Amino acid sequence: MLSSSEIRRYSRQLMLPQIEEEGHENIAKSHVVIIGLGGLGSLAARFLVGAGVGNVTLVDGDIVNISNLQRQVTYNEMHLGELKAKALLNELRKVNPSVNIKGKCIYADRDNLPCIIQSAHCVLDCTDTLAVRKLINQACFFAHKPLFIAAASGCTWQAVNLLPNQSNAGCYACLTNTIEVREDCVTQGVLGPVVGMAACHQATQALLFLAKGNNADIKWGQYIHCDAAQSTIRAFALTRSIHCKVCQ
Ligand SMILES: [Zn+2]
Repeated sequence: MLSSSEIRRYSRQLMLPQIEEEGHENIAKSHVVIIGLGGLGSLAARFLVGAGVGNVTLVDGDIVNISNLQRQVTYNEMHLGELKAKALLNELRKVNPSVNIKGKCIYADRDNLPCIIQSAHCVLDCTDTLAVRKLINQACFFAHKPLFIAAASGCTWQAVNLLPNQSNAGCYACLTNTIEVREDCVTQGVLGPVVGMAACHQATQALLFLAKGNNADIKWGQYIHCDAAQSTIRAFALTRSIHCKVCQ
């Protein structure tokens, strides 16, 4: 049973048929691991903590830099030089003290990923390099963890929800075998709100999944490409590549 203060805090999402009280209780019992605390991760984390996700682990070894403030809206000038995982944890505790938030000031790599994601109900990949994204994809596939990936560069953003071992659906490595993926905002540049759109999509998908589990009305294995300048969204099914070294 939710307390009266919880009902007040979460009233807007409790009204939704996609959440309701049962879904909210599932959200409150869940553990989400967010890897990468830049424009995507810092905003997605803000929404998940606001929504009452019970346990959130924040992972990033980077510090807050002046060039981050254009798009990483949870940080401000007071955070410059601070480790992102610590700075974000301190800000998010002010938002919702009932959430158990842990900060890991490390970069995800091949060795530490299995341990980082071990107890997660789902993982949000909010990193900005292809090599790390492929490692997260691989770790989540082998650990059977649902994975929500988003990325942004220029005026476009992309996203895909991956449920390991779902029939026919491919993994992120299948995607990079199929098309050339360019998602590096360091060399391509990016408009701040476009990163925010990707993070909002990612947080939405994760919350709907946490509320209803496998009964959530979301699409798995569908790659979305949005051009925010042209106001267009394209989507296609990500099928398994027979050459994939991860899911084949
Ligand atoms: Zn694959």
